[in-house]
Amino acid sequence: MPAYHTLRRHADRTDAVQPRLDLVVIGNGMAGLRVIEDLLELAPERYNVTVFGAEPQASYNRIMLSPVLAGDKTFDEIQSRDRAWYAQHGIALYTGESVVDIDRRRRMVISDSGREVPYDRLVLATGSTAFVIPVPGHDLDGVISFRAIGDVERMVEASARGGRAAVIGGGLLGLEAAYGLHRRGMEVTVVHLQSQLMERQLDATAAALLQHSLAQRGLSFRMGAETAAIVSDGAGRVAGLRFKDDDASTLDVDLVVMAVGIRPNIELARSAGLHCDKGIVVNDTMQTFDPRIYAVGECVEHRKAVYGLVAPLWDQARVCANHLAWRGHSQYGGSVTATQLKVTGIDMYSAGDFAEDEHTETLTFSDIRRGVYKRIVLRDGCIAGVVLYGDTADGSWYFKHMRAGTDVSWFRDALIFGRAFVDTDDHVEPNREAA
Ligand SMILES: Cc1cc2nc3c(=O)[nH]c(=O)nc-3n(C[C@H](O)[C@H](O)[C@H](O)COP(=O)(O)OP(=O)(O)OC[C@H]3O[C@@H](n4cnc5c(N)ncnc54)[C@H](O)[C@@H]3O)c2cc1C
Repeated sequence: MPAYHTLRRHADRTDAVQPRLDLVVIGNGMAGLRVIEDLLELAPERYNVTVFGAEPQASYNRIMLSPVLAGDKTFDEIQSRDRAWYAQHGIALYTGESVVDIDRRRRMVISDSGREVPYDRLVLATGSTAFVIPVPGHDLDGVISFRAIGDVERMVEASARGGRAAVIGGGLLGLEAAYGLHRRGMEVTVVHLQSQLMERQLDATAAALLQHSLAQRGLSFRMGAETAAIVSDGAGRVAGLRFKDDDASTLDVDLVVMAVGIRPNIELARSAGLHCDKGIVVNDTMQTFDPRIYAVGECVEHRKAVYGLVAPLWDQARVCANHLAWRGHSQYGGSVTATQLKVTGIDMYSAGDFAEDEHTETLTFSDIRRGVYKRIVLRDGCIAGVVLYGDTADGSWYFKHMRAGTDVSWFRDALIFGRAFVDTDDHVEPNREAA
């Protein structure tokens, strides 16, 4: 019998005899909630669960903040679990309450309201904080990050007055913020340090196509521009940006959104003496250097990698829940990620590593008039990276083969045309043919 079933039988027997343990989850974002959901499926009776969330809301899908900003969705539509769900599962939920201390000796967490809750197991899911460039004026009224529903509410309120906005950062978040503000009626300029948008996800051709499409929709761009200062109106509010260029040129704006990156939120873990580097360092079972304490999500550093997308968090949460449930048979080995931009009418897909060197081979398809561009980078006969613009229908198919490490040599000639051209009689996998 496979080891899994043996372990499962053992775990089921122990479920019946073990008293409930105390589990505390710090951070009620996407990763923290997913651990709880997975754990409820695996071992609903194992723990008394307490959750602390610094935000006032019960829980919501952070990814969908962009459609909320653009007015395509309401906040109610993006709520994940309401308070009734937590109550129904006997979970004590403290929202608008931050944990400020972890007393590892007493195995107790302490919140900013002075509440003390004991734990047998602790999960840190504190996410990230938006990085704010510390230029003069970064703390003026009217300078906003794009991380939480509170930020979206402030942007919506500011956009109701119309006017001009600058979004600093031409990455995924910056472009989604810019598009949302534009949809809300603001005149928006994207200010980006590099000469191409989304330089970590796109190559120059795809980035140029993207910039062109966004410009056609009404966005303006200031590329290769570094912000020297945010200028005040004299009454503590934003009036403009000043750039680090020869003329110290300026841009008049009423709102500045900073979308220049995120930093893992590790202060609490560090102050509790847990080993942190870029993030809270965990092993393949998502345990920190204190084996009673797990960490998942954007706050984590695993095998030197930190992530800023949700797909890795689902994998991490599953492994963490599995161990909390005493199944003990799954490990996290890292994730390959894919990115899509949530701007209506723009199809863009990027995954993996598309940098070229002497060991790579690149396949491209370009129909610029139709706005379609595809680039696939192969390394040792496998897909190492893919960039699709204008036609992303095959994105997940390429991604599946990339993750699986499929040797695509036998259908290399048709690969760039997509799945439909590979699944024909002309392209039969050699070992299938032999069978
Ligand atoms: C606008 C936007 C769009 C995005 N779009 C995409 C997308 O299209 N695709 C994609 O894959 N990813 C996207 N992401 C990223 C994705 O949302 C994150 O990867 C994911 O939310 C991270 O989950 P997390 O639980 O680690 O962190 P979070 O969701 O940030 O949750 C952490 C929570 O912990 C709370 N917390 C922190 N410290 C404490 C404390 N001491 N006590 C109590 N609570 C605390 C925080 O307040 C927060 O609520 C987007 C992010 C944003 C902001």
